[in-house]
Amino acid sequence: MEPLHADTLLRVFQLVTTMLALATLGGAWHLKGERALWFWAGAFAAAALTQAARVALIAMGAPRTFWAVGHLGSLLSALMVLLGLRVYLGLPLRCPWPLVLTGLSCIGSFALTAWTGQFWPSITLTMLASAVLTMPAAHAALQAWRAQRGFPLGLLAADLIISAIIEVARGLAVSPLIAQTRAELVQYNSMGLFAVIALLIGQALAMLLLLQDRALRQIERLIEIDVLTGLLNRRGFDERLRRLLQRGVEHPPVLALLDVDHFKRINDTHGHAVGDAVLSGIGARLHDTLRPLDLAVRLGGEEFAVIWLKPEAGGELRLVERLREAIGGQPFETAAGPLTVTVSIGVAQALAPDEAPEALFSRADAALYEAKRAGRDRVVLAR
Ligand code: GH3
Ligand code: MG
Ligand code: MG
Repeated sequence: MEPLHADTLLRVFQLVTTMLALATLGGAWHLKGERALWFWAGAFAAAALTQAARVALIAMGAPRTFWAVGHLGSLLSALMVLLGLRVYLGLPLRCPWPLVLTGLSCIGSFALTAWTGQFWPSITLTMLASAVLTMPAAHAALQAWRAQRGFPLGLLAADLIISAIIEVARGLAVSPLIAQTRAELVQYNSMGLFAVIALLIGQALAMLLLLQDRALRQIERLIEIDVLTGLLNRRGFDERLRRLLQRGVEHPPVLALLDVDHFKRINDTHGHAVGDAVLSGIGARLHDTLRPLDLAVRLGGEEFAVIWLKPEAGGELRLVERLREAIGGQPFETAAGPLTVTVSIGVAQALAPDEAPEALFSRADAALYEAKRAGRDRVVLAR
């Protein structure tokens, strides 16, 4: 194989890391809320700046010991990648050991170079220390990918695992254990650098895709949530229900339609803002009464629906009575003082697990109409 040109590679490395640092810094500036991206931009900037520092020190004729600054890039990058990932995943940042390891390795890198007069001990030390920092990052990315899946997390996890392996291999390859001559040392180091350039590009891509992914998911959530009550809105409910029914349900679902009684009077007597506070309170009580698998939705106005996909056999009326009491059982604290409101509820159980939601809604609606007609504040089961 043709030997890799170490100087050319270093220039390419410098160029690529500078580009990636600028791109991620721009991204971090643009997406102000994303703290993780500042760390990741720092990772690329550390790689670019330590190389630049090395070039400058050589040009200034600084002692050879200081040239070892070029070896610190991978170490500082690995630290920043790890910290950024912890921020991204919402893990606590209080982890002093990576900082201590990085600091000691930086000092060790210069000390070893000064002491031995050779570069390989410093390269080996910083590479092995980088691997020790990259491994927990790879582990965290892999765990997150197992839980959430998705291409960006998979790409990042794979990239970090390979990075850790390359760091160990590069650290050992430049030592006299493997490199017998200076030419071999330079060749192995360059091969490692070559792989690192590709891996850094992969990391940057994964990081930007991760943030895009998260932004998209936030938007998706926002358009599915009702602002006033925090419950699903009609769109989110329909979408969630469609997905759940597609997956198949074992039990025929139970649907309850709720309509607040004489709600117009609350608005007329106390004003719209008080009406809003009551609606918001109803949303909270529905949320607190239900289990994670139950879907609650604000259909619009003062109308709500709840669907139980795993109802206890024959227990539907009990579930719905519990909802009615959760709302009507105690007053809501509002600016106009405590207000008690009641709800009328129409309930229908699907005739089969795959009964069309439209048919279920229409039967529950008829039952709700019955509940209103029969005097409100009650539950009526559809026939
Ligand atoms: P009924 O017992 O027959 O259901 O009587 P009602 O007064 O609740 O019935 P109606 O459907 O006529 O009134 C619903 C009212 O809900 C009318 C509307 O002003 C009010 N409303 C709808 N959306 C909102 C909202 O977002 N905030 C507030 N404050 N009021 C709302
Ligand atoms: Mg209504
Ligand atoms: Mg009403």
